[in-house]
Amino acid sequence: MRSPTAEAGPATARAATRSSSARSGISDADGPSRSAASPPWPDARRSRSVASSRPSGTGSDRPLTIRYGSIRSRFVRNRFVRNRLAGAAFPSRSRRDETGDCVSDYDVLIVGGGPAGLSAALILGRALRRVLLCDEGKGRNAASHELHGFLTRDCTHPSELRQTGRDQLRRYPNVELREVRVEDARKEGARYAVTLAGGETVGCRKLLLATGIRDDLPPIEGAERFYGRGVYHCPYCDGWENRGAPLAVYGPEAHGARLAIELRGWSDDIVVFSGESAAIGPELAGRLRRHGIAIEGTPVAALEGDECLRAIRLADGRVLERKALFFAMPDRQASDLAERLGCRFTRRGAVDTGTYETTNVPGLYVAGDSSRHVQLAIVAASEGAMAAFAINSELLAEDFP
Ligand SMILES: Cc1cc2nc3c(=O)[nH]c(=O)nc-3n(C[C@H](O)[C@H](O)[C@H](O)COP(=O)(O)OP(=O)(O)OC[C@H]3O[C@@H](n4cnc5c(N)ncnc54)[C@H](O)[C@@H]3O)c2cc1C
Repeated sequence: MRSPTAEAGPATARAATRSSSARSGISDADGPSRSAASPPWPDARRSRSVASSRPSGTGSDRPLTIRYGSIRSRFVRNRFVRNRLAGAAFPSRSRRDETGDCVSDYDVLIVGGGPAGLSAALILGRALRRVLLCDEGKGRNAASHELHGFLTRDCTHPSELRQTGRDQLRRYPNVELREVRVEDARKEGARYAVTLAGGETVGCRKLLLATGIRDDLPPIEGAERFYGRGVYHCPYCDGWENRGAPLAVYGPEAHGARLAIELRGWSDDIVVFSGESAAIGPELAGRLRRHGIAIEGTPVAALEGDECLRAIRLADGRVLERKALFFAMPDRQASDLAERLGCRFTRRGAVDTGTYETTNVPGLYVAGDSSRHVQLAIVAASEGAMAAFAINSELLAEDFP
């Protein structure tokens, strides 16, 4: 994976290219296509032009073209470049005003560079916001070999999605990526002071947490080894590849039983390891039996296989051939930043977010798996975009009251 520090170089170079093409006042009439280096403002501003004649004696008979749009937009652009893009050319440093409060280095700081964080950075970048994205690089699906169910990216490697997302952000010099852990964040007045690993503190006007969650694996020998290669948690992610196959389900009490019933949509050969049927409760146990799902009371001793899971060894020595084991275990927030900043949580431990990924803390947004919706990569990306839209709307309202 290319380091974000390495990415800062070309991005900075592109910033310079854009600024110089802006200074030249060249309109789109000079060429039919817009290159990646074209300035990002609408054509209408640049194409309004009138022709007049040069006074005689100027040495040229060619009509003089005065581009009012160019003059105006040069002024506007310079301001934009100063306010929004300057940070891409200079390394950001934390600054404090005379009262000691942190001054905003960035419009938005995003913690987490998974689908949610990358998607938010893209939308905010295109809105000319100065963005810092800090990512520790430990995505939830790192153990997986294929990402499924993501429109246009079905069956790609999860790291490819991330790398493509990062590569495409390099077009935007106002978006800075750093491979660094965010250690702490505090609200200081209307802004946030964010401490990075290594001690640097940066300021931002809005903070987006896209830090994801972590799954607890079943306490079974081999669970970690086969995670993503026969051990899964989500039927929507890995059910298709295991359709019609002999499956096992692991989960304490009712959790495993409910997942087993859900998986019935993918296979009719399911064994659930949920302890004694008494722990499941008579109603759920009845449902399992009705749908042909076997309840196995003997504990699992170990998972066996070579590259992928092949069988489950039970504590009494029996070996059960199974292609996959799905588990229903508790998950937890990957970061405690939301808790430390005072976010409200749902009963299930997700951050309680509003329609646009807002939280109960002003200026703080949470998107992706750590918020309360469906936990799929494409949903996380969509939530990142929604949060970005809301953040930019809030900033616009502040900038242009
Ligand atoms: C084994 C497995 C397979 C899966 N398969 C699929 C699938 O096929 N299809 C699908 O749609 N979904 C799948 N998922 C779910 C998918 O991985 C998540 O929905 C998605 O990754 C959520 O994206 P996110 O951006 O919210 O979080 P993540 O992708 O987890 O990204 C969060 C990022 O934030 C970083 N971070 C956390 N704390 C900090 C901090 N303090 N400072 C800096 N960085 C930090 C992490 O290191 C990480 O890079 C799978 C999950 C697992 C576990």
